[in-house]
Amino acid sequence: MSSNKRHVVDPRAEPFARLLAAPVSHREELGSKGPPRWCRFCERFAPEVTFKKEAHVLPSALGNRSLFSLEECDECNWRGSKLETDLAGFLSLARVTSMVPPGRGGPIKHKPWSGIDRWMEAMPNDRRLTVRVGAGGDDDGPVRVTLHRDGMRLSTLVPSYRPANVARALARMLLFVVPREELPALHHILQWVRGADLWRYPRYHVARMPGTLPAAGLTLHRPGPGMPSYCVNLYFGHVALSCFLPDASFEGPMLEFPASEPVDTYEYPADFVVRSEWVSVDVVPGGFVRASDEEIAVAAYYRWLEGGRRDGTALDDWLWSQEEVTRRKLVAGQAEFRRRSAEAPQEDG
Ligand SMILES: [Zn+2]
Repeated sequence: MSSNKRHVVDPRAEPFARLLAAPVSHREELGSKGPPRWCRFCERFAPEVTFKKEAHVLPSALGNRSLFSLEECDECNWRGSKLETDLAGFLSLARVTSMVPPGRGGPIKHKPWSGIDRWMEAMPNDRRLTVRVGAGGDDDGPVRVTLHRDGMRLSTLVPSYRPANVARALARMLLFVVPREELPALHHILQWVRGADLWRYPRYHVARMPGTLPAAGLTLHRPGPGMPSYCVNLYFGHVALSCFLPDASFEGPMLEFPASEPVDTYEYPADFVVRSEWVSVDVVPGGFVRASDEEIAVAAYYRWLEGGRRDGTALDDWLWSQEEVTRRKLVAGQAEFRRRSAEAPQEDG
């Protein structure tokens, strides 16, 4: 693998493994119990190391209750759980909007700052998402809702995370799955995942999917046609995350994605911590109120009149009116819903 050559990635390249971590499913265990029981990360054996904890191939925070590995010792599991925390932080918004119940079940909460009345909470069992923006305007605070004609945009701050650990968490998933005899070729990746500071600029790629996947999925590639290196793809909620693993020189190949694949590349110095990143998602609920162009144009016209008929305010007036008309219709719709609910015959208890 040459470091300076450009590689065009073929999204249709065939993976060597596809895994789906269903929130509730039968248990699948990868690897062997031995004896002797063996850890594929530190390459030590029982009883020098213990194997009491469950080793999740995909994080339990992403809903994995079905896919486990028998070949990770408790010490490496503890180290790995730190990487999963960074990955789950990066995917905070996808966790709330995907409605995939976390491993322990129950609601999924996202509260970026403590002590203020702004948070999100998803109840996967009744498919309900509550977004609390508290008092005051939408323009401050770490949870924001913007209404538009087709639904709403939810934006939030995600907790601080280390991008290098997001990449490590992805690589760790591949190391769980590759056959044992393939691990020597990935020895440099093993060392890096275990904490050695070998990759100066860890890099991964993020694409938004058109729909929401109701479970965490994984596809794994070996180097081959259209695939410059080992590659991990994690699919979760509306996000597809890919990491192309570097060779032993840790000079990753330059990648080109087809124009039809909108991909954001994340590349940071190895020790970088992202402290305040905004992420957004568009939610388009069924039956959401819709504002027509005519309604918006009328509202924008009156706003322009009220604003003193100045030039150059057309776009602002239009955007403001789009949100205002949508909000007004939503409030009217809620009042109508409450009125009908009150009129409906009550059942006697
Ligand atoms: Zn170990």
